[in-house]
Amino acid sequence: MLNKNVLKTLHEEVTGYGTTLVAVSKTKTPDEILTVYNAGQRIFGENKVQELLLKYEQLPKDIEWHLIGHLQTNKVKYIAPFVGLIHSVDSEKLLQVISREAVKCNRVIPCLLQVHIAEEETKFGFSEQELLTFLAHYTAKPLPNVLLCGLMGMATFTQNTEQIHKEFAQLAALFKRVVQQYVNLQPHFKVLSMGMSADYRIALEEGSNMVRIGSLIFGERG
Ligand SMILES: *Cc1c(COP(=O)(O)O)cnc(C)c1O
Repeated sequence: MLNKNVLKTLHEEVTGYGTTLVAVSKTKTPDEILTVYNAGQRIFGENKVQELLLKYEQLPKDIEWHLIGHLQTNKVKYIAPFVGLIHSVDSEKLLQVISREAVKCNRVIPCLLQVHIAEEETKFGFSEQELLTFLAHYTAKPLPNVLLCGLMGMATFTQNTEQIHKEFAQLAALFKRVVQQYVNLQPHFKVLSMGMSADYRIALEEGSNMVRIGSLIFGERG
């Protein structure tokens, strides 16, 4: 259950860094989300397309919905009409499909490129080298109706804070490098999405400007 003080304190802490708070509402009910909405939060993140669709239909239309989880190309069409930001673009193929669906909806879809920074094999995303190769290619021949707005990454799930610092610092450095190297991504390429409940403080210290926080706001997922 939501503790309003937790949300307020978290919101103050995060915005104090000039950072955007995405409330990750996966597995939570529309009623639980409404409680957080009524406390003033407007940006919510979901990791599954089906769940995102159901909640989009049931909840107030001024919510900005972010997709934060792995996205299959065949599901892009369902969220294309309304999604506010896709954090998890991890292939050129996926971006092409997003572009095509965005054209059909006559809208521009903001996207982040997910970078693999963790040690775990299971996390999706471009490697650093893949990202730079992709961007060299992309900036020469951009796709219509998608806006590349930045990078997203997840650190290794570990108690070792030094390692988490290192991984977030690596992503922040890569972000800086991309901003300097690919000037024609401006003025939109501004978002560095990193940090979750367990590691958002480290992410803020390392320069995150968008954190994705679930359990700290909504309580542990069952
Ligand atoms: C679930 C999830 C989060 C939030 O996780 P918490 O530990 O509950 O804060 C953030 N980012 C992604 C990609 C997630 O899947």
